[in-house]
Amino acid sequence: MLFTAGVDVGSLAAKAAVLDADRRRVMATACLPTGPDPAEAGRRVLQAALETADIKYDGLSAVVATGYGRETVDGAQATVTEISCVARGAHLLDPATRTVIDIGGQDSKAVRLDEEGYPLDFALNDRCAAGTGRFLEVMAQALGTDVTGFERLAATATEPAQITRTCTVFAESEVVGLLARGVSAERVAAGLCRAVALRTAGLVRQIGVEPKVMLVGGVGLNRVIAAEIGRALGCELITPPQPQLVVAIGAAVIAAERMTGSRDEE
Ligand code: ADP
Repeated sequence: MLFTAGVDVGSLAAKAAVLDADRRRVMATACLPTGPDPAEAGRRVLQAALETADIKYDGLSAVVATGYGRETVDGAQATVTEISCVARGAHLLDPATRTVIDIGGQDSKAVRLDEEGYPLDFALNDRCAAGTGRFLEVMAQALGTDVTGFERLAATATEPAQITRTCTVFAESEVVGLLARGVSAERVAAGLCRAVALRTAGLVRQIGVEPKVMLVGGVGLNRVIAAEIGRALGCELITPPQPQLVVAIGAAVIAAERMTGSRDEE
C-alpha cells in the first residue's frame, strides 16, 4: 500500500494528514499550535498523525509541505503553495466544489477550481489582519472570551450590531465603544461575524462566485460566519467537518499525484 503525507505549517496551527494514496482515503490527521519553532511543530504534528494512522515514517512514500513554514519541514520531497493544496483538498472532499474560501490565522484567500479540482484563479488578502482568525481572536478578547465563546455569543444574538471599521485596531475601539453604550456582547459578536463575512464576500467576488462554495481554514469552525458568508454570496456554502485540515489533506493528495505521475501543477 502507498501512503503519503501532507504537512501544513500555518501561522498559528501546524496540521498534518496521512493519505492512503491508492484509495485516496484520509487515514489520520493532526493539528497542533505552531508556536515559536515551526520546524519542531512540523515534526511533531506529522508524528502525531502517523501514530494515529499506525504507520511508521519509513512507511511513507512521499511528503509534501505547505503553509508559511513549509521550508522548515524536514524530509519533504516538495514544497507547494497553499493555493494548490487547498484546491486539491477541497476537490477530494467534494468534487463538485468550484470555489474554495480559506480563512486562516493571518490571511484569507478565495480560489476558483476547474472540474478536476485544479486552481483557475485566486484572490488573496495577506496584507492585514482584518477578516482573518487573528481579527477574531482580538475581538473575542475584547469581549472577554475566546474564539469558541465568541461564536456562542454571536449565535444567540437577535440582531447583529453594525460594525463600520474593518481595521483590527479601529474595530477593537469600536467594539469597546459599543459595549460602553450598552450594546450587548451577543449583538457585537454577531456584527463582527457579519463584518468578516462581508469582507470575505468581497474577496470572493474578485474571482467570481461559482457554486459549490466550500469554506475551509480555522475560521470555518465559526458557523455564524459560514452562514453569513453564504447569505452575502447568495448561495449555499458547505463546510467540511475539519475545515482546518483541508490544506494538509491537499498536500497529501499532491504527494500521491507526484508518486503516481498524474497531473502536477507546480
Ligand atoms: P493558519 O493556517 O494560518 O495557522 P488556521 O487555518 O489553522 O490558520 O486557522 C487558525 C485560526 O482559526 C485562528 O486564528 C483561530 O482564531 C481560528 N479558529 C480556531 N477555532 C475557531 C473557532 N471555533 N471559531 C472560529 N475561529 C476559530
